[in-house]
Amino acid sequence: MSDWQPVRQMLIDKSGLKVGKLVANPVSGGDINRAYRLNDGQHQFFVKTNSPDRLMMFEAEMIGLNEIQSSSSIRAPRAFGCGMVGQQAFIVMEYIELSGRPDPVLLAQQLATMHRYTRDQFGFAVDNTIGSTPQVNSSSRDWAGFWQQQRLGYQLSLARTNGFDNELFDTGMRLNEQVSHFFSDYTPLASLLHGDLWSGNQGADSHGNPVIYDPACYYGDHEADLAMMELFGSPGQRFFDAYDDLFPIDAGYNVRRELYNLYHILNHANLFGASYLSQAKQMIASLLAQV
Ligand code: ADP
Repeated sequence: MSDWQPVRQMLIDKSGLKVGKLVANPVSGGDINRAYRLNDGQHQFFVKTNSPDRLMMFEAEMIGLNEIQSSSSIRAPRAFGCGMVGQQAFIVMEYIELSGRPDPVLLAQQLATMHRYTRDQFGFAVDNTIGSTPQVNSSSRDWAGFWQQQRLGYQLSLARTNGFDNELFDTGMRLNEQVSHFFSDYTPLASLLHGDLWSGNQGADSHGNPVIYDPACYYGDHEADLAMMELFGSPGQRFFDAYDDLFPIDAGYNVRRELYNLYHILNHANLFGASYLSQAKQMIASLLAQV
């Protein structure tokens, strides 16, 4: 991209800063988009670009970042806007110098506070994406039904469209019919969730404050965020102890964790192919064995 003028103009309008000519340096680490640090010699910004059909994805990301800001709980980049630059869609936000892992206790306290930011219905103001897969967020007061239809059911249908074998779809649907079983004695709150909280979407700023970014926000069971944090590693016992002090974790989490992570493994199978298929099938079998 040689001319960042539309981004510069948006930053002038939205940030109130005197933004000069911007120079871009690529930032690595993302899964989906091209990312750059923009610099005018005085200020830094973070911009992601993708094809024009991804503009709505960026708009949904911005709404999610704004929602996290509204909860006044944990640091997330302040988003300035989205639009088109050249032939590319973009989102531009505050640049945060990320340095290492967040302190587990601080992360737990701030995340528990975000999860204490609740509303009366599950879902979100907009649909968004998980990875690059659409994520449906229609409002509902029935969490088990929400998870059944808008999370597992959606991914299972996608897996069938993608031509994965019938066993996955058939056993998956058998499990999906039993989702309410996992909520027979547990009624979650509709908490503000990050939605995609693997370790690659968390860090610490230069003062050591936890930062979360690249969200796929919606209001749902706080356990879904905790489960994702354990999917590819673990935030550790100190995290869970500190979290539990502020937002007690129900004993049934140990079983529901797999139900929640099945959504992400199905999504990985749909995005990245059959290597995740056997893991999805094992998870389905183990969950079916518990109903
Ligand atoms: P993608 O949407 O492609 O997955 P990310 O939003 O995860 O991209 O961003 C890519 C990388 O850029 C992250 O892994 C992180 O290291 C860094 N990053 C993300 N947001 C910011 C930000 N606001 N400021 C500075 N660096 C960021």
